[in-house]
Formats: sequence, structure tokens, C-alpha cells
Amino acid sequence: MNNYAVEIESLRKVYRVGNEKIVALDDVTLNIQTGEIYCILGTSGSGKSTLLNLIAGLERPTRGSIRINGNSIEKMNERQLVLFRQRYLGFVFQSYNLLPTLTALENVSLPLTFRGIKKQVREKEAAKILTSIGLKTHLNHRPTQMSGGQQQRVGIARAFVSKPRLMLADEPTGNLDSKTSGEIIELILKLARDNQQTMVIVTHDSDVARIADKTVHILDGAIERIE
Ligand code: ADP
Ligand code: MG
Repeated sequence: MNNYAVEIESLRKVYRVGNEKIVALDDVTLNIQTGEIYCILGTSGSGKSTLLNLIAGLERPTRGSIRINGNSIEKMNERQLVLFRQRYLGFVFQSYNLLPTLTALENVSLPLTFRGIKKQVREKEAAKILTSIGLKTHLNHRPTQMSGGQQQRVGIARAFVSKPRLMLADEPTGNLDSKTSGEIIELILKLARDNQQTMVIVTHDSDVARIADKTVHILDGAIERIE
């Protein structure tokens, strides 16, 4: 066994819009070390979200392969992908993606239902992580009753509550002001480090690069350099 959490080989993704072909990723090969934090840096349209969505199995590659903990995800069917994501993956979205009718506590409890954990235990775990990140007084608030920064904290708690081995975040601070952004980045990276998780965080904020273990610069769908 090697020490890679994610092995990406000759990955290509082409979108078709009408008669036009858009090469979003062009022959990307990248190995991600277990337990490290990777920052993917690149301008808008460079292929960052495409790469993350392919790693999460949310989209299918046109060509190439992705292995996560030894599993070839491009070979899985939809059902297998769902189970795989529930077991191994946490995802933090730019737009939070919380369920609007559920409270903070219910949103964060949700990933634990897939693990067959009893309601009482789920809610205890959810309350614990929400309290630890400063939302003790907002357990019963719904998304619309919280600020952007608070909603993203809930999004982070939901992604981390089941301690998945691989954490993905796509511009998690893209909708936040700079002060809140700094706090959110610090929080995400601290949780990932404390849990010794592998993390891939997409951003166009070069400050994140300073705290990551590795920075992958992507340009026009290709890796420009890794530092
Ligand atoms: P980034 O996240 O770095 O801003 P994306 O991965 O979203 O970039 O997009 C890379 C390229 O692929 C862009 O040219 C974008 O317009 C195109 N693209 C992304 N998703 C789709 C899609 N669903 N259909 C067609 N083109 C897409
Ligand atoms: Mg994007």
C-alpha cells in the first residue's frame, strides 16, 4: 500500500455545450498524500470545481481514473457512489447547501443517520460539534435565521461530524467577508489537522496557500505547478 489518499491519473473532462467542446480538465495526474492539506489555486474557469466534483464522484470523467483509498470511483455505479460518499467523504460548499426546513442541529445530524446511529446519539454528537465551533445558542435556528458565516459553520459541522477520511471544500469562503473568511479557513484547517484528515480545499485566495501543506496551481484545466 502506498500512502496516497487520492490517486488521479490522466484525468480529462470535456463538456459539450451545443456544438462546442469545452475541455475543463486536460490530462491531470496528481497524487494526494494521506493526512495532508492541499490547496487548489487558480483563476475562475480554470477547472477547480470540475476537479473537486470528479474526486467526489459527483461528475464522471471523460477519460482517466481516480482512486480513493484504493477504490476506483469511475467504475462505481450511482448506488455505490452514494454509499462511498457517505462513508469516506465530507464536502463543504461555497453556498452552504443546508436544508432550509431543518434546524442547525438537524442539518448536522443528517450524515449520521446514514451510519445507523440512534437519534439521541446523533443529536448529541451534532450539538457537541456545533457547540465547539461557537453555535451553542443557534442549535435550533434554521438557515435563514443565521448569518452567512454561521451558516457556513453549520456546513462545516455537517461535513466533519462523521469524521470522514477525505474532506473536500470548494471555495468555502467565496460568499463571506474577509474577516469571516479568515475565521472559517482557520476553523476548517484546524478541524482537518486535529482529525488527521486528508483535505483538498479549492480557493482563489492565496492566503490559504500559506497554511496548506501543498499548493496545486491549475491553469486552463492543467496543473501548472505544485509547491
Ligand atoms: P473553476 O471552478 O476553476 O472556476 P470550473 O471547473 O467550474 O472552473 O469550470 C472549468 C471550465 O468548464 C469552464 O470553462 C466552465 O465554463 C466549464 N464548465 C464547468 N461546468 C460546466 C458544465 N456543466 N457544462 C459546460 N461547461 C462547464
Ligand atoms: Mg469553481
